[in-house]
Amino acid sequence: MPSFSSALLRWYSENGRSLPWRNTRDPYRIWISEIILQQTRVAQGYEYYLRFIDRFPTVEKLAEAPQDEVMRLWEGLGYYSRARNLHAAARQVVLQGRFPQDYAGVKALKGVGDYTAAAICSFAYGLPTAVVDGNVYRVLARYFGIETPIDTTEGKKLFAHLAQELLSVRQPAVYNQAIMDFGALQCTPRNPNCNTCPLSESCAALAEKKIELLPVKSKKTAVSHRYLIYILILRHNANEEALYLRKRPTGDIWAGLYEPLLIEFPHQPEDAEIIARLEQLSLLGQSSVLKPIVRNIKHQLTHRLLHCSAFTLHAPQHPPTDFIAVPLSELSRYAFPKLVNIIFDTMDLSAAKEVRLSDSHRGESALSLQ
Ligand code: SF4
Repeated sequence: MPSFSSALLRWYSENGRSLPWRNTRDPYRIWISEIILQQTRVAQGYEYYLRFIDRFPTVEKLAEAPQDEVMRLWEGLGYYSRARNLHAAARQVVLQGRFPQDYAGVKALKGVGDYTAAAICSFAYGLPTAVVDGNVYRVLARYFGIETPIDTTEGKKLFAHLAQELLSVRQPAVYNQAIMDFGALQCTPRNPNCNTCPLSESCAALAEKKIELLPVKSKKTAVSHRYLIYILILRHNANEEALYLRKRPTGDIWAGLYEPLLIEFPHQPEDAEIIARLEQLSLLGQSSVLKPIVRNIKHQLTHRLLHCSAFTLHAPQHPPTDFIAVPLSELSRYAFPKLVNIIFDTMDLSAAKEVRLSDSHRGESALSLQ
């Protein structure tokens, strides 16, 4: 086992990445980087980290910012609960008076789990806490040939124990960074670079030709389908057009981000069903104009496939309740889900055929907007 750890440290001294959050022992900056890098590749997270630290250089600055501003800086990174938790935890830290300095205190922060607490404690304080993330699972499972599924209680305990045993207590921060970089750069999920690997002579997966089979996961996560129809309700006034928006509530994807009116169906709806729903909501008047923007685009989230169509609606009978009218020139002040930004980007209204919802049209189930 010591040879595993020392080979890893040697590899890191020659191949480790130089990243801005590695040149600091400030727990705040390390925490921000670790939260950004959960579910996000380094290449994508890098710019977000720089922008975030530039705008919120201290935990106090983050704590005092409005949530909308935090969400706007996070826009495009996905997994938005990370941003909401980060903001809430910054307020926790400010109330406590300083950043917690031990594992239990760090783990008590909102949104911080075992992995992030171990990373912060080792990188900022030099505490001997081993990280176990996807890279670590992969490297350990392959090198030691472990077939216990990583998503079981037994597997989690086994890998956590092994990772802790292998940790260099003299250099916990360097060791943790080394094993994560090794997983990200050398022992990659697909096509690991075994030819140049310093561990190849003693790697069980290589010897037993099991590289593609490890690590083992017991469950396959089912993908659910959701059918979303966005209605971009527009209002003209003397100088400018405004779009009605609302903030998404908690308890579902994208909480805290903004969106136009959303109607959800249990299946892909016909146009007549969409029109009927708008009538139920008393949104269609004599002079209302509905135009399609996009039809059935697909947007993949981790465990969901979203099927989405979008329409503009001019001259609604009534403005929707609980929505705010935002001038189009001010949309950049708000954070939107990526899917909504895609709809905004593809708004080529000239190509769409207008449908005036006169009395003779309404109620016709065969009404088509094509
Ligand atoms: S030999 Fe291949 S599978 Fe084994 S640790 Fe090295 S890169 Fe990973």
